[in-house]
Amino acid sequence: MAPTDDEGTRGASDMTQATTPADAKPTIRRTGRYTFETKSRTRAGVTHTQDVLHLKCSCEAGEKGLRCWHLVLALQAEQWYQRAEEQYKAHNTARRRQPATMTRPAGMAALQEAFGA
Ligand SMILES: [Zn+2]
Repeated sequence: MAPTDDEGTRGASDMTQATTPADAKPTIRRTGRYTFETKSRTRAGVTHTQDVLHLKCSCEAGEKGLRCWHLVLALQAEQWYQRAEEQYKAHNTARRRQPATMTRPAGMAALQEAFGA
């Protein structure tokens, strides 16, 4: 029997465990708003593309419509990015509110006001 690449389906069952083996540390990066790229754990130089909006993956398991570990990972990464974005937005909104509390005219306007211009 020829060796089969069951990376995707085996990985899916791996995700039910709380820990990930250190030697199988996944490498994932965001390539678009809903797309991620994951490096294959079993084949060097091979990357799979995930679409978290349509729950699709370019790997063998993903093409069969199975929820592979790449997709699980991409969904986790998507949640992480979303939280980070929300925090970033909240931070920016808070910063924008501050100047609004300063109602005193500044610079030239303050000078003109002082001289009654
Ligand atoms: Zn996959």
